[in-house]
Amino acid sequence: MSRAARRVPLRRALSELPPYVPGARVPVGAAAFKLSSNENPFPPLPSVVAAVVDAAADLNRYPDMYATDLVEALAEHHGVRPDQVVAGCGSVAVLEHVLDAVCETGDEVVLPWRSFEAYPIAVRLAGAVPVPVPLAPGARLDLPAMAAAVTPRTRVVLVCTPNNPTGPAVHAAELDALLAAVPGDVLVVVDEAYVEFVRDPDAVDGLAVLAEHPNVVVLRTFSKAYGLAGLRVGYALARARLAAGVRAASTPFGVNALAQVAALASLRAGAEMRTRVEAVVAERARMLAGLREQGWDVPASEANFVWLPLGDGASAFAAAAGEAGVLVRPFAGDGVRVSVGEPEATDLLLGVTSRMRPPVPA
Ligand SMILES: *Cc1c(COP(=O)(O)O)cnc(C)c1O
Repeated sequence: MSRAARRVPLRRALSELPPYVPGARVPVGAAAFKLSSNENPFPPLPSVVAAVVDAAADLNRYPDMYATDLVEALAEHHGVRPDQVVAGCGSVAVLEHVLDAVCETGDEVVLPWRSFEAYPIAVRLAGAVPVPVPLAPGARLDLPAMAAAVTPRTRVVLVCTPNNPTGPAVHAAELDALLAAVPGDVLVVVDEAYVEFVRDPDAVDGLAVLAEHPNVVVLRTFSKAYGLAGLRVGYALARARLAAGVRAASTPFGVNALAQVAALASLRAGAEMRTRVEAVVAERARMLAGLREQGWDVPASEANFVWLPLGDGASAFAAAAGEAGVLVRPFAGDGVRVSVGEPEATDLLLGVTSRMRPPVPA
């Protein structure tokens, strides 16, 4: 073959990647509520904006490579040591670094399905093989089945709590049983992206689990409750040896300068963040109650979204909601995820659902 006719091959793993479908964006000029990406409906706090504006004057400089001030503040916030905290460009990137730090090519990663769509992509890119385990009734993670899916080839188990996109949280007793069942050389990643919204008293507390088990990594983010999705900052909490491995696998300067100061300012504004989270939790209760009054069989949600198990009707429902001015996230053939946002958006959504007949429970 001539030199010019040769093409650079793409990695085989890429052809196996499921696409990551971002939530629909509001069309320019449209009066629409964006309930498709689990974002915080509140704009950034003035103190956070001020910190970002200040830091913008120094953008000719690289940021602190290890986000030292932020990492130290997080360590104090969570009662761990700074060497147990690794910050990254959103917790999705941190998850990729975790997988890169522990997975050899061909290792298996057990994950719930349906769950966060970034998981199978991150696993494939790490050269590992996703082993999806179907959800249990009630759209909950099936932890006994996940434990049973662990084989000598398993390196990681991903636990999403609350589960995106279905909403229920894993209970502490369920995770304890999984941790008792899996070998100590299997890493259990507890992704708590929505932990601030959890009100179920039986739910997992990742930090308590981390204190008891050396083979646990907890993932947290500033994207959801803290409302900094646009800046990209998340972090892992782990034992120091694992944390050092994740740090070694991380993109250098992965947390930009504005994200570092914004996350720090957000941590300091914890009381305001909690007030906003309470408002979202109250709105979630109103959305769930409204749906159930209409006869919808929706799972309890501990996050800032609600799951409508619409099966084949998912895409048509999303289109109807879009026409009514609410952008939601369909998962074709499975269901629709609706983020909890403005009360007006809830009212519009409940208008759409009242005009549709709820699916008959299977
Ligand atoms: C939104 C989300 C994240 C956070 O992603 P960032 O990269 O921090 O914005 C992580 N895990 C799950 C399950 C999520 O839904």
